Amino acid sequence: MQTMRSDLAGCPVIIGGGLAGLMTALRLAPQPVILVAKVPLSEGAASAWAQGGIAAAVGEDDRPSLHAADTLAAGDGLTDPAVASRIAAAAPAAIIELERHGVVFDRDPAGRLALGLEAAHARRRIVHVAGDGSGAAIMRALVAAVRATPSITVIEGLEARRLLVDDRGVAGVLAAGPSDACLLLSRRVVLATGGLGGLYAHTTNPLGAIGQGLALAARAGAALADMEFVQFHPTALDVGLDPMPLVSEAVRGERAVLVDETGLRFMQGKGRGELEPRDVVSRAVAAHIAAGHRVFLDARAALGAGFAGHFPGITARCRAAGIDPVRQPIPVRPAVHYHMGGIVVDATGRSSTVEGLWACGEVAATGLHGANRLASNSLLEAVVMAGAVAGSIAGTEAAPLSAARPVALPAAPQADTLRGLVSEALGVVRDRAGLQQVLDRLQPLAFKGGPTADPALVALMIATAALAREESRGGHWRADFPQTSSAWARHLVQRIHDTGTRLVCRAVPLATIPQPLVVGA
Ligand SMILES: Cc1cc2nc3c(=O)[nH]c(=O)nc-3n(C[C@H](O)[C@H](O)[C@H](O)COP(=O)(O)OP(=O)(O)OC[C@H]3O[C@@H](n4cnc5c(N)ncnc54)[C@H](O)[C@@H]3O)c2cc1C
Repeated sequence: MQTMRSDLAGCPVIIGGGLAGLMTALRLAPQPVILVAKVPLSEGAASAWAQGGIAAAVGEDDRPSLHAADTLAAGDGLTDPAVASRIAAAAPAAIIELERHGVVFDRDPAGRLALGLEAAHARRRIVHVAGDGSGAAIMRALVAAVRATPSITVIEGLEARRLLVDDRGVAGVLAAGPSDACLLLSRRVVLATGGLGGLYAHTTNPLGAIGQGLALAARAGAALADMEFVQFHPTALDVGLDPMPLVSEAVRGERAVLVDETGLRFMQGKGRGELEPRDVVSRAVAAHIAAGHRVFLDARAALGAGFAGHFPGITARCRAAGIDPVRQPIPVRPAVHYHMGGIVVDATGRSSTVEGLWACGEVAATGLHGANRLASNSLLEAVVMAGAVAGSIAGTEAAPLSAARPVALPAAPQADTLRGLVSEALGVVRDRAGLQQVLDRLQPLAFKGGPTADPALVALMIATAALAREESRGGHWRADFPQTSSAWARHLVQRIHDTGTRLVCRAVPLATIPQPLVVGA
């Protein structure tokens, strides 16, 4: 087992090389930090795949309060209004901060930031780079900034497999390198490990996004909330690729329409039609596919020859699959895209249940997304919360290191055998029978060890909350409880029971997040 360089012992460890991890490291500079990523920076990060951009109320007709209001509406009763206001208010400064790190956002001929429109936003407020190449461009600039910052020690190819905890809280990270295990001793660990789409058969996420940070936190004793809320993107490119390339919401923002093989616009006349929130459009598309149709996104009339100029990345991905979006409708279907739930953290990104643990980015539950994320709010949340985490860590004294040593390195997580099962029972539409069945299958897998244990634990947490929540809201839809119920305007918070053999799941009033959950019961 390797240990870290002695001069680095005790400095904060950030796990994850996406937007949240990179920004936390940059914000902590010049304080020395270790940044660990299981694959080379940016390769396995959803951040680099973001197309639409970052939501920020910077338009002349816009205000942070309008952005916060749209965030609250999308969150379907579970977004924390104070968090939405705080993060929306911080958005313009987040854009400036990214520019300072070298990100060059698209501008109009007058030199103002060019603003895109996405579903459920009442204003044009999506700041973007290189049309639909926002994530890649942002990550390129930040990776360069991180590599040029001497206080950040980047270790690529190292996979965190366990958090070590003792009676003072987090004691370090047990990780696996290409040839050996590695022990990183630290009292301050930030999880920035991204989402869990790779647990599902149809996903837009990198396949390595299997919710490892959620499992690490849960096994360390942390509370997790809102696990049942999984966002499906209605328009993933349906050409047999895994993961599925995304056809951004911005295409519908430019008035492309959803049609079936007969040319029928099946969203017409339903609310805001194609610009309804993602969950509504996803269910409509899924139902139409279940009824035996194929679904297409048709941009021919809306954009025509202008498509390639607006969406060069999507054009390239379509053309690689033999589809010309200028002349043909694009085949699409819903796919898992984003996870609203995560590690319960406070306004500074700190876990309220495990001392020394912080989380930011998709792995955290800050209260911003509630039951459904507003498009382009996740990159924003990652940048803003990375700053909050860094500020919190900078104000923390490093406690003495632990002498405790782990015994064995857990096996590398393997989600492949679960993907079909998870998709079937925990997909766009759920019901009691399917949830109970998957729960019974996952429970023993999650607690018996081996390569499926961590992915099974994460899926079990989704299933447990999805079964308990007897209503439909945001990203969680129960065929047997299709109504939203005011009695369920609560969060479901879970922890592993002290015995280590099962989960404890409690419904808690909105205001009590992020208070710790008692687990002895
Ligand atoms: C196709 C696509 C398009 C999107 N478009 C947008 C958009 O336009 N706007 C928007 O706001 N959001 C968008 N999103 C969502 C957004 O990209 C993500 O929510 C956000 O980038 C998450 O950032 P993150 O830093 O939390 O995680 P990621 O960027 O996914 O980074 C996670 C990092 O953690 C590492 N990691 C994971 N587990 C371990 C481990 N055990 N040990 C070591 N390292 C580990 C990974 O290798 C990776 O480096 C999109 C998502 C997808 C998939």
